[in-house]
Amino acid sequence: AGTPILVSACLLGEPCRYDGRDNGLPAVLALADRFILCPICPEVAGGLPIPRPPAERQGRAVRTAAGEDVTAAYRLGAAKALTLARDRGIRLAILKAKSPSCGRGQVYDGTFSRRLVPGDGVTSECLEAKGIRVFTEKDLPSQGR
Ligand code: SF4
Repeated sequence: AGTPILVSACLLGEPCRYDGRDNGLPAVLALADRFILCPICPEVAGGLPIPRPPAERQGRAVRTAAGEDVTAAYRLGAAKALTLARDRGIRLAILKAKSPSCGRGQVYDGTFSRRLVPGDGVTSECLEAKGIRVFTEKDLPSQGR
């Protein structure tokens, strides 16, 4: 019941991460009590496989550690997330923190050394630019991680 929201599929237990694992969290699953959850993995929606090499934002581009430019797939995934949000009348998203697609407020710095810098993932940036508010799992009250 309730309002539809966009949610990173990995937070709902979908094994769509680059390493084939998931980020399933009870606090995110519990949102189903109050919202209609619309899962999406922008990287998979953008055509990337599971597993896939990890990638990080490097300015406007997204590249793997080996230097492969995967920006187009990230942009396609963002466009698909935006289309889903518009089709469903979604105004709010809960996306996975720090991801180069889903992160909000901070992302890895592009050097593959686990350092964080202020910024948004490609999908989060796109959604926010179109007026859809993006939060991460860390913003949930019950989530102290
Ligand atoms: Fe999760 Fe988003 Fe990464 Fe997909 S792109 S695995 S939904 S953080």
